[in-house]
Amino acid sequence: MRFRYCPECGTKLVPRVAGDDGEVPYCANCDKLWFDSFSDCVLVLVCNEQDEVALSSQWYLPDGMTSFTTGFMKPGETAEEAAAREVKEELGLDLQSVEYAGTYWFDYNSQLMHGFIGVAEKAPLVLSSEIQFARWVPAAEVPSAMLPDFPGNAAMTVFRQFIETRELPMPEIPRMSKEQLEMMLQSME
Ligand SMILES: [Zn+2]
Repeated sequence: MRFRYCPECGTKLVPRVAGDDGEVPYCANCDKLWFDSFSDCVLVLVCNEQDEVALSSQWYLPDGMTSFTTGFMKPGETAEEAAAREVKEELGLDLQSVEYAGTYWFDYNSQLMHGFIGVAEKAPLVLSSEIQFARWVPAAEVPSAMLPDFPGNAAMTVFRQFIETRELPMPEIPRMSKEQLEMMLQSME
């Protein structure tokens, strides 16, 4: 997101050259540059010792669709801490380990997704009020319970890493184009 007004005092911002960054919106009243902002989010594939994956309903998905655990990072926490917190909040699980699985830019929402693969002991899922339903799903059945893959999709990239590192057979992963994704996202608004 590009700032047009100062978030602190409301003054209309003006362009100002800031070294290598070129023109950056500037508040003359606060003497402050306002660089473009984006959200840091975590996306956690939670698996258990039987190579099952915890899939949950997410507010941004069409009815019946599930995904991995996601959430916004909070100021003061690391991405790893955010991953553990979101899994605890949404599924009631304590992660035994969490491994970093890369960062992914989700252009549609200006979000930087931090991917993780977390391991938890198989236990009944205790859901937060944000989650309508969740369940443990065998690895092979995960793609059919999620959105089709699309260019820049963090979830399926992390899923492929999970399958490869566990040396499991790669299931068929349905795909959609960027245009199909945009149409779907617009129809949900
Ligand atoms: Zn200001």
